[in-house]
Amino acid sequence: MEGIGIMGGTFDPIHTGHLLTAEFVRDAYGLEKVLFIPAAHSPFKLDKRVASAEDRLAMTELAVAGNPHFEASDIEMCREGVSYTSDTIAALHEHFGPEEPLYFITGADAINDLPDWHHPRELLASCHFIAARRQGTALDMAKLRGFFGSLCDAHIHELATPELEISSTQIRGRIREGRSIRYMVPGSVETYIRKEGLYR
Ligand code: ATP
Ligand code: MG
Repeated sequence: MEGIGIMGGTFDPIHTGHLLTAEFVRDAYGLEKVLFIPAAHSPFKLDKRVASAEDRLAMTELAVAGNPHFEASDIEMCREGVSYTSDTIAALHEHFGPEEPLYFITGADAINDLPDWHHPRELLASCHFIAARRQGTALDMAKLRGFFGSLCDAHIHELATPELEISSTQIRGRIREGRSIRYMVPGSVETYIRKEGLYR
């Protein structure tokens, strides 16, 4: 097995949609492991209140604990400032060696906005993107090809994954309303949320 999957996100909190998607990609591409990397400060969510980095990392660690191919990583939390994926990929290439293929896993909706990310062309050249189809949003290949040219077909791949209509926003809302989040997050994560009184 070779190749490292990277699941980046705010993970506020991590949920079954993240885990199921990562496992489908790992299986489909025969990846050695998937790193779950909570962002310290997402450039797209600077104005939003989120649970502390420590809580989000702790929940991520709990969520991946039972899967020998999954690992939580604090690499973005250890860096100062805004978390750019391009910096994270560069750090991972340094760690695993330049030959180890890296697969960044994300929703198709996010990949359509890739041209707006930090240093998009260098980023796409340095890793593969696996687009999980989510909420019916397909990849906008015409837009992506227009921006990235031939790099696009070699480095952006679409994978149909079971679509779970779960988001962290929805989970936070349900907790505020006193509704059940059972099966939306692993039991260990729910226990942590309740014990720490998060999202109330
Ligand atoms: P929020 O509602 O706070 O935006 P979220 O549920 O979208 O949270 P993020 O931490 O923002 O979760 O997402 C991290 C990554 O996981 C993104 O690439 C996103 O597209 C993907 N993702 C989130 N929810 C799902 C899901 N239900 N199925 C597949 N992928 C998902
Ligand atoms: Mg989101």
